[in-house]
Amino acid sequence: MDKKCICQETQRHFLNKAFDRLKLKGAQRELLLSSFRETRITVPVTLRHNGENTLHTFQGYRVQHNHARGPFKGGLRFHPDVNMGEIRALAQLMTWKTALVDIPFGGAKGGVSVDPQQLNETELEELSRRFCQKMAPIIGVHEDIPAPDIGTNPQVMAWMLDEYSKTHGYRTAIVTGKPVELGGSAGRLEATGYGVAHLAHKVAETISLTPEHSRVVIQGFGNVGSHTAIALASKGYKIIALSDVNGGVVNETGILIDHALRHIAENGTLTGLSGCSSVSNADLLELPCEILVPAALEATITCDNAGAIQAKLIVEAANMPVTHGADEQLQQRGVVIVPDLLANVGGVLASYYEWVQNLQQFPWDRETVLARLESRLSRTYDAVSVLANEQQIDLRCAAYELAIRRVEHAVRLRGF
Ligand code: NAD
Repeated sequence: MDKKCICQETQRHFLNKAFDRLKLKGAQRELLLSSFRETRITVPVTLRHNGENTLHTFQGYRVQHNHARGPFKGGLRFHPDVNMGEIRALAQLMTWKTALVDIPFGGAKGGVSVDPQQLNETELEELSRRFCQKMAPIIGVHEDIPAPDIGTNPQVMAWMLDEYSKTHGYRTAIVTGKPVELGGSAGRLEATGYGVAHLAHKVAETISLTPEHSRVVIQGFGNVGSHTAIALASKGYKIIALSDVNGGVVNETGILIDHALRHIAENGTLTGLSGCSSVSNADLLELPCEILVPAALEATITCDNAGAIQAKLIVEAANMPVTHGADEQLQQRGVVIVPDLLANVGGVLASYYEWVQNLQQFPWDRETVLARLESRLSRTYDAVSVLANEQQIDLRCAAYELAIRRVEHAVRLRGF
C-alpha cells in the first residue's frame, strides 16, 4: 500500500473511532465527511524550453470541506503527486484543526499537480496568477482564504494577492502567509515550530520530563523542524540528533542549533556537520531519547519500526507521521503522543491572526502574536487533556472528539 493510502486509512481509522464514541449515525457521519464543494481546473502556462515557447496544462484543485464555523481556510500545495483524493483528506484535516483550536474558520485545501522545481520564476508566477484567476469565483476574504503549503511560499501568495486585487480592489486578507511588507504577520514563519515546542514542553512536564534531563531527536530540519529546535533549545532541552532528506547527524552531548543553521545555509544540507556522527533517517527514529519530533514526512513511524522507538514522548510536528497500527503499539507501551491535529496547529492559528490584522488594518508586533499563540495553544491543550482524563482516552482521541463535536454542533445550529 502506498503512503497516501496508508495516511487516508489512518485518518479514517481515527475519525471512525471518534464518531463511534460520539454515537454519530450514518447520515451524520456522511454529512461531516463529505466536501461542500470540489473544484477541478485546468491551468495553462507557457513554458520556455530550449528557447521555444510551448503551452502546457496543469490540473488544479480546491476542496472546500466544511464551513459551518466560518470561511474555508487551508493551504495551497504545488507538488507532482497532488490529486483530488489527497487534497480532499487534507481539507478535512483543516476542518478539525480550526475547530480544535476554536477559530472561526472551516477547512479547505488546494493544489496543482506540478513540480515547481522544474519551472522558472516567470512560469511559476504565471501558474500562480492563472490558478488565482480561475479560483477567484469561489475564494474570498469571507469565503475561502488560501495560504502556503508544500511547494508554495510567501512570493506565491503575493502574486495571488495582486491577481485577486486587480478585480476586487486591494484585499490583503484574501491570502495568509504573505510577505510582511504586504500585510503578512510578524511571527508567522516560526509559528508552527514555536507551537510544537510550546506543546512539547507542556506535555513533557506532565510526565515529569525536565528540559535538562531530556534528549530530543528531530527528523526534518525545514521550517517546522528548525523552529522547533530553536525554541526547544532555548527552553534548555538537549537536541542530540537532527536530519534532512539526505540523512541525520548525532551528537550525544547536544547540537548547537545556530551552528546547524549556519552549516545548512552554507552547504544546503546538514550532512558533514562538524562534531557530529552520521545516522540514517530510519535509525535516527530509533535513537535512545526522551522526546522524538517527526517533522518531515507522513507515515514514518509504522508497525515495522514502532517496537524499536525508545522515546517516551512523540510530538507529531508533521502531518500524519504515525500510522494507526503504530499508534496502537506505542500507546500500549505507554508512549505519550501529541497528535498532529494539536501539535502543529500553531501554523493555522498564526494565519488566523494574520487575517484578523488584515481586516483590522492594524498590525501586531511579534511578541503580541507569539504571546496570543501560546495562550491559545495552552487553552486548547488544557481542554484536550481534561477530556482525555475524564474519559480515560488518549490525546488524539480527545482532540478528534472535541473538534468533531464543535463542527457537528455548528452544522446542527446552522441547519445544514
Ligand atoms: P519543509 O519543506 O520546510 O521541511 C521539510 C524537512 O524534511 C526538510 O528538512 C527536508 O530535507 C526533510 N525531508 C524531506 N524528505 C525527507 C525524508 N525522506 N526523510 C527525512 N527528512 C526529509 O517543510 P515544513 O514546512 O517544515 O513541513 C514539515 C511537515 O510539517 C510537513 O508534514 C507539513 O505538512 C507539516 N506542517 C507544516 C506547517 C507549516 O506551517 N510549515 C504547518 C502544519 C504542518
